[in-house]
Amino acid sequence: MDVIKKLQKIVGIDRATTSPVQLYCYSSDSSQIRGTPDYVVRPQNTEQVSQLMRFANKHGIPVTARGAGTGLAGGAVALNGGIVLDLSGMDMILDIDINNLQVAIEPGVIHSRLNKALEPKGFFFPPDPGSSEMCTLGGLIANNGSGMRTVKYGTTKNYVLDLEVVMADGSVINTGSKTLKSSAGYDLTRLMVGSEGTLGIITKAVLKILPLPKARTVMLASFKTPELAGDVVVKTLSAGVIPSACEILDRVTVEVLNAYDPNIAIPDAGATILFELDGTKGSVQEQAKVVEIVCKPLASGIRIATDREEMEEIWSARRLVGAAISRINPNKVRVYVGEDIGVPIKEIPRMLKLVQSISKEFDLSIMTYGHIGDGNLHTGMCIDMLDNEQWEQLDLAADKIHRTAIMLGGTVSAEHGIGSARSRYMRLERGDALDVMILIKRALDPKGILNPGKLGV
Ligand SMILES: Cc1cc2nc3c(=O)[nH]c(=O)nc-3n(C[C@H](O)[C@H](O)[C@H](O)COP(=O)(O)OP(=O)(O)OC[C@H]3O[C@@H](n4cnc5c(N)ncnc54)[C@H](O)[C@@H]3O)c2cc1C
Repeated sequence: MDVIKKLQKIVGIDRATTSPVQLYCYSSDSSQIRGTPDYVVRPQNTEQVSQLMRFANKHGIPVTARGAGTGLAGGAVALNGGIVLDLSGMDMILDIDINNLQVAIEPGVIHSRLNKALEPKGFFFPPDPGSSEMCTLGGLIANNGSGMRTVKYGTTKNYVLDLEVVMADGSVINTGSKTLKSSAGYDLTRLMVGSEGTLGIITKAVLKILPLPKARTVMLASFKTPELAGDVVVKTLSAGVIPSACEILDRVTVEVLNAYDPNIAIPDAGATILFELDGTKGSVQEQAKVVEIVCKPLASGIRIATDREEMEEIWSARRLVGAAISRINPNKVRVYVGEDIGVPIKEIPRMLKLVQSISKEFDLSIMTYGHIGDGNLHTGMCIDMLDNEQWEQLDLAADKIHRTAIMLGGTVSAEHGIGSARSRYMRLERGDALDVMILIKRALDPKGILNPGKLGV
């Protein structure tokens, strides 16, 4: 059977390829995981995706959905060959329906494009990944991604009202409705969110949106140790203030940022917490007062920014973290493993301390930053990629970080997804629930063609 001819018949001759150069371009995402597909297909509509799935299912050909390939867990990598289904071309914003507080989009819409379209109307889609300028909404939904605003606004799953999904056999379903709530049957929307392309292909989504807050302010507080910083976060939240963002930058992160751009000038400290508060002008002032009262006895310095330019400077510095890490040592490269743990809020100080001891134990410089307000910490580790011993140390350190997070009641992935990078921890983290996931997978995809090798299912 001439597979490529059939694929080209479905999507058009220029939209399905076996060119080795193109296959190579699709052989990785933003992690270190590699796997070359046999075919790359770029569908333009749901009907084409449906026909492709029917064909792939009939012949047992693996299908790996792909958005922008910014995933950090190998999710969009075709481990078993087969088809990579590039959905980035299905990128229409179909409807902005302010009266119903929702938008309808195709999966290939880049995250920041949606918020740029909503801003003039005074609305926004709250999940806020660092990869906003690159990642697709389809990828964000499939990974249940989130970002800096989670502490107050929740993750992607809190905003998905309905999904159009092409199932493994090519049938097309809608998982929800346009209403803001529904109690009709199993919550298939939530089942699909975070399923990482293992249960179906998302071809449309209806997302809830919110009005933009009228005022905001940013506060930077410095602390002698990360544990003190962690304590302050727990105290702030239990004092009833839920910041719109609450980020930690540890000492290494601040050093790296200041080396990258001396104008950033964040004071050198054991750890820095960046609070963002939003709401009405009055409520922001009230919240800021509480944060100041909580921080004062423990902080070595507090800076409050209210004008837009200063706030933007601070946020730009925060966004630079991922790129600036190469300044630790230009001969080393950041490897994304063990980088996305989440722990219950009250365990944050303990987790921070344990990361420091893991850093010493394995003689690796670990930069810790992330969304501390929701318990999500990113641990950045750099190694010389040509040094096998450093790879071994890195794997051991990442393994210990993952197991420590689980031991504290946490998760190995708070937002980046499991993919193949973290699938070996699914049993430890989810226990018998993994068996239920495997049953669901077998029921919906009996031939196992949808993104095989991912999620431990
Ligand atoms: C610099 C940087 C910063 C980042 N910051 C964040 C952050 O703050 N928060 C965060 O959550 N993530 C972050 N990420 C990770 C990544 O951007 C997210 O996981 C993002 O959601 C992936 O989107 P994508 O379009 O690139 O998806 P891909 O990487 O292409 O795919 C991700 C997964 O989704 C599946 N998939 C994609 N499209 C569909 C579809 N239409 N239907 C079914 N399955 C599909 C794929 O099979 C794969 O399993 C960051 C990554 C980078 C490189």
